[in-house]
Amino acid sequence: MAINTRSSVRIKPTYKQTAPEKKRRSVYEDVVSQFNRAADIMNLDSGVRKILGTTMNEVVVHFPVKMDDGRIEVFTGYRVQHNNALGPFKGGLRYHPAVDIDEVRALATWMTWKSAIVNIPFGGAKGGIQLDPTNYSVAELERITRRFTYALGNTIGPDYDIPAPDVNTNPQIMAWILDTYQSMMPAFERHRCLGVVTGKPIESGGSVGRDKATGQGVVYLIHEWAKDHNFDLSKATYIVQGFGNVGSWSARLMKPLGAKLIAVEDVTGAIADPEGIDPEDLTRYVLENRGVKGYPKAKPISHIEFLRTRADIFIPAALENQITAETAPLLNVRLVAEGANGPTDPEGDAILNQRGIDVLPDILCNSGGVIVSYFEWLQNKRSEFWDLQEVDCKLYKKIVGGYQRVKEAVSKYRVNWRTAAYIVALARLEKVYKERGIFP
Ligand code: NAD
Repeated sequence: MAINTRSSVRIKPTYKQTAPEKKRRSVYEDVVSQFNRAADIMNLDSGVRKILGTTMNEVVVHFPVKMDDGRIEVFTGYRVQHNNALGPFKGGLRYHPAVDIDEVRALATWMTWKSAIVNIPFGGAKGGIQLDPTNYSVAELERITRRFTYALGNTIGPDYDIPAPDVNTNPQIMAWILDTYQSMMPAFERHRCLGVVTGKPIESGGSVGRDKATGQGVVYLIHEWAKDHNFDLSKATYIVQGFGNVGSWSARLMKPLGAKLIAVEDVTGAIADPEGIDPEDLTRYVLENRGVKGYPKAKPISHIEFLRTRADIFIPAALENQITAETAPLLNVRLVAEGANGPTDPEGDAILNQRGIDVLPDILCNSGGVIVSYFEWLQNKRSEFWDLQEVDCKLYKKIVGGYQRVKEAVSKYRVNWRTAAYIVALARLEKVYKERGIFP
């Protein structure tokens, strides 16, 4: 089988910028502090505050897998379900050494807010396996994925909890999950399970436009921001951190607007060219070389030089806690468009605010992925195939609707965009809880 997966990557990543950071502070504590700030300002109902201030279910599984050389390894996998008041739990699966219960809790909680902001009928969940995928062969990753799916059992399901790709997972991994899940079902129920994961390969029930959806959403919102600020994107420069799904698609979709990519950083290093880097050419290079390091048409720069690059827009599209008290003062940009989840910690956020740098917050800015996942799920339910124009048009309406709601909350409550985005999400959930009450 032709395997299209980054898992065959054999480079050794250095997780230097993230692993030590995680030890110092809890990402989930950051989420709680963001939540509390918004809840105080909008005077969120105290009961709803208790409900949303914690996760609903947390599943931790330890499962054995046979390696290529016959050894048995035991892996730890997670699925945290934060809330399903608005619809089935929904959120990605991450394969990364830094995955732990705290990170997954944070990511699951952000998913609840995201779906609420853009008005889609999903709740929030997230999961993952603590591993470095570069240490395993494709065959091992397939067995790990299948065994993880088996261990999760009925924790996931097409009308209950629907995973999708995230860091180091991709459509191939979703196809393995689908196949394993279907194999665990009675024959007469299998076709009804197509929607158990989204972000599938198109031939296996995926949606056109899902691969680029998160980046497309980021670029639609940058475009809205530019319109609101009379800012000419055709003369803009931008830098991107992370050149995987979200980073590379964001970079590629900025190009037709005339904007110039001048620096990129990923786990292998950072590169710059003030004359402009062609995102299409860099994407081809990264696919072949597993990272931006060594790209011959740009010069290598350090992490600090990357952060100091003078540009109009910064798109963080890697991992959490990249914009902090130490790094936020270094940025020389007008707008941070958060493609990644949680790239900015509360101290970093405060500094961006003080410095007048605009932020399109993650829970709005990267919601394109979950929006098109919703479209994929709908197409699976209805046995339909939409074309790219239909997907893009519906994505645009949904994400710009979210942008408008957050913008209104910014002026109504006189808060920054992150807090306003939380208020929009919390207000929707509060309304639903008040309408339905609490059983019994
Ligand atoms: P990916 O695995 O495709 O790419 C991750 C990128 O980050 C790679 O280029 C990697 O080299 C880089 N990276 C990893 N560690 C780094 C470090 N320490 N410094 C610099 N770069 C580093 O993952 P993705 O799907 O593009 O996800 C990226 C971010 O976007 C994550 O925060 C994820 O949760 C978020 N996100 C993804 C989606 C989606 O649809 N895939 C949707 C919403 C949000």
